[in-house]
Amino acid sequence: MLFPGRFQPLHYGHIEVIKWMLNFGDEIIIAIGSTQKSHMVDNPFTAGERMVMIREALKEEGFDLSKFYIVPVPDIEYNSIWISYLESLLPPFDAVCSRNPLVIRLAKEERYDVLVPPFFLRSEYSGKKIRKKMLSGEKWESYVPPSVARIIKQISGIQRLIDSSLSDELE
Ligand code: NAD
Repeated sequence: MLFPGRFQPLHYGHIEVIKWMLNFGDEIIIAIGSTQKSHMVDNPFTAGERMVMIREALKEEGFDLSKFYIVPVPDIEYNSIWISYLESLLPPFDAVCSRNPLVIRLAKEERYDVLVPPFFLRSEYSGKKIRKKMLSGEKWESYVPPSVARIIKQISGIQRLIDSSLSDELE
């Protein structure tokens, strides 16, 4: 089963999706998308940082790492061939898990089974909301696994996010 996402950063919503997916199969390919993007307000963390966050969080949460592939995938301009591009890069997969409407559409067009997970506390477990909290100085740590919070602090991720949001325009 394929679970594509940006994981900017990995949060407990993603962890709940992964637990849910394990009801349907025992091998999960986590495709880290948009690997070319980092140092941006919507995409602050590099592909390598996201790989480490995911691996450390899976270990910390007690998942069996032998069930997972964690694969970085740069975006391409051609949505219509994205799924065949993934097929060329990734181990074989039989189903795609997502709530992202574009991902669902593209997977269905290529006749993949699509698993749509329930929302897990979307009011809190949302990358956008967590990044907003980081920017505004609110508490964000409880929405991500401790290892993810630790890595973000080690790389001065909050300051990077703040710097990425600045402009050199004079008001
Ligand atoms: P994301 O990290 O925001 O979310 C990953 C998945 O988790 C999504 O399916 C999302 O709906 C789900 N999720 C998040 N919080 C949840 C919660 N609380 N409860 C339940 N589910 C939750 O990542 P994303 O933006 O969906 O990532 C899609 C990736 O695929 C991007 O990198 C995108 O660029 C890539 N993509 C690329 C192309 C292309 O290259 N042409 C085309 C389509 C998609």
